[in-house]
Amino acid sequence: MKKKRTYNVRLVKRHRSYTLYAIAALYDLHINAVRRWGLPCIDGEKPQRVHGSDLIAFLDARQRARKNPCKKVTEIYCFPCRKQQSIWENAVDLIILNPKQLNITGLCNECGTSMFKMGSIQKLEEYQKIFHVQTVQGEHLIQRSDNPVMCDLKEGG
Ligand SMILES: [Zn+2]
Repeated sequence: MKKKRTYNVRLVKRHRSYTLYAIAALYDLHINAVRRWGLPCIDGEKPQRVHGSDLIAFLDARQRARKNPCKKVTEIYCFPCRKQQSIWENAVDLIILNPKQLNITGLCNECGTSMFKMGSIQKLEEYQKIFHVQTVQGEHLIQRSDNPVMCDLKEGG
């Protein structure tokens, strides 16, 4: 998985305008990555240019959004879309990692990329209600083969 990147907005001069290529060079990105940002370009300029102040606002918003992602349970952050997306058909696989954590994986409803996020074993039942769970992998990691401390509490015995 790609490491999340923070762009230093101080590299951008507020009163300058930038071509998409200049922005790509500034942050050592591929031009297509910059195009995907969908920056607000200055009308009528060719090649397309972006105001420094717009670029700063965009990067700020983007970085703030990342720190405070909207926490809809049924959404997962999609890297190609760069935002929280709902899951295709709400269909997920649960992959149990250890007795506490699991991965929830599903496909982005928008672009079809597979996405995942961490979940908690404690919420396993909840997940099975809110998602169409296709498969659960690694269930043996949380299964207790027997329950030696269970007491027989039958009434009227
Ligand atoms: Zn997507």
